[in-house]
Amino acid sequence: MSRINPRLPFSLLLIAVIAATTACVDPGGRDTAAPAGPLRVVATTGMIADTAARIVGEHGTVNGLMGPGVDPHLYKASESDVRLLSDADLILYNGLFLEGKIGDILVKLARSRPVVAVSELIPEEMRREPPEFQGHYDPHIWFDVSLWIQTLGPVTDALVELRPEHEASFRSHADQLRAELEQLDSWVQGRIQEIPEEHRVMVTAHDAFGYFGERYGIEVVGIQGISTLAEAGLQDVQRVVDLVVERGISALFVESSVPRRTVEAVVAAARERGHEVMIGGELFSDAMGAAGTEEGTYPGMVRHNVNTVVDALTGNTGAPDHDS
Ligand SMILES: [Zn+2]
Repeated sequence: MSRINPRLPFSLLLIAVIAATTACVDPGGRDTAAPAGPLRVVATTGMIADTAARIVGEHGTVNGLMGPGVDPHLYKASESDVRLLSDADLILYNGLFLEGKIGDILVKLARSRPVVAVSELIPEEMRREPPEFQGHYDPHIWFDVSLWIQTLGPVTDALVELRPEHEASFRSHADQLRAELEQLDSWVQGRIQEIPEEHRVMVTAHDAFGYFGERYGIEVVGIQGISTLAEAGLQDVQRVVDLVVERGISALFVESSVPRRTVEAVVAAARERGHEVMIGGELFSDAMGAAGTEEGTYPGMVRHNVNTVVDALTGNTGAPDHDS
């Protein structure tokens, strides 16, 4: 059999995933053979895993497939990842074409357990649909904390359906997390306001920060597009160099899950034109930091990114780590 064409059939596959997901979370749509005992949840990205772990609490374990530095746009499941997925009681993924290369695996797994896109309840009018992303929505919803809060509902509901006896616990954990994230959202708004308006431009390796820019009022420019599947070309670099020089931008940002070379190329080319610009720090865009560090949690990753951007764009670099 020939392999599937990577373009159109993938969209169809994703539709199939969504359909399968809907069927799986439909009450009464599944048999009740789910094994009792601690839940085994597997999430694709670290952000989803951290969020789900907070809601599951002591009633199960959550494994994240994509560790620090892993680019979800390019991620392919290894053999051990497939084993982990096959043993899971519940699989959580971002959706909106973020995990573009594991759509077929998710379709297969959805036949025997719930496979839930955490983005499924985000209303269409709140989804960004950038023209350059070929009719797909922007998947980077975790950068708008108020949007990320909307993923708590589908995660909680999926857990409740599997373990109704723990419903009160799951819902109470979700309420606590929601309150924490609402505070975080306000904190981000306040910190971005500290950047003088004319300096509120964030240049990053790829176009991950569109939701962030819209929510918190900062212009965002990615050298690569929404997905890292397409490499940045010379034209992309030139376009950003022109912008950096013309606007007098003083700092650009690298991302932990994307090679630094395109950002470094912009810095070098801008300097050649006599414009001094520096790398303002590393952002955790599509992957979190190491487990056990502040950046290894979803709220910590948001705080790290915001502190890095605000410090660099206000000229306050080299400052010690912030408490939020
Ligand atoms: Zn991305």
